[in-house]
Amino acid sequence: MFVGHYSVAFAVRSEKNKIPLWVLFIAVQFLDYIWATLVLLGIEKLRVIKGFTAGSMLDSYFHPYSHSLVTAVLWSIVAALIYKALCGPHSRLYSKPAPWMIGVAVFSHWILDLIAHPRDLAIYDNTWKVGFGLSNYRDPEFALEIVLLACGIILYLARNTMPTVRKGAVIVFGIALVIVQIGDTYVPRTPLTDKATVTGVWIFYSLFVLIAFAVEKVGTRTNINRP
Ligand SMILES: [Zn+2]
Repeated sequence: MFVGHYSVAFAVRSEKNKIPLWVLFIAVQFLDYIWATLVLLGIEKLRVIKGFTAGSMLDSYFHPYSHSLVTAVLWSIVAALIYKALCGPHSRLYSKPAPWMIGVAVFSHWILDLIAHPRDLAIYDNTWKVGFGLSNYRDPEFALEIVLLACGIILYLARNTMPTVRKGAVIVFGIALVIVQIGDTYVPRTPLTDKATVTGVWIFYSLFVLIAFAVEKVGTRTNINRP
């Protein structure tokens, strides 16, 4: 699962809970940020194998700290507490349900990975591995990613009031994410090393966070300048 994770970020974002979209973009990939960091440190293990599954080259055979069910729950709580500590004092960014929503967004990553991954997600430590393996079926997996993303963006546009220019920017961002997913799923490429792969994860995910931040600024200046 790749861009499908962002559907949850778009869907959760509302003026009521006050969590910015870019924060939710970090939340829904929080487990992968931890995973990428631990692979870089040599603590978690990854093999990149061409044709490992129809839709993915990643054989993530040892990731008990970032992707077991037990640690996913723990990381969700940690993320909620971090949000509470950092944003609690700022009423502009904080509402009572916000930490809960952050926790749900972080945990959603595990649920969506459970659908897509082959049986490599441990319940705890490195045992009792589960995974429904949708990534063994390239087209259905791709379709799920896109349908989820589209639903998330539709909800986002419906639940948040914004200038038309920002609506356009959100749709363009959505299309860009679809193109990235097409590249990831369908464009053949030589496997990179494990470290290069997770460095790419860090770079791409962070780029999307920056774009999510920028998108929510689109149209604000014209509003301020209006007499
Ligand atoms: Zn993951």
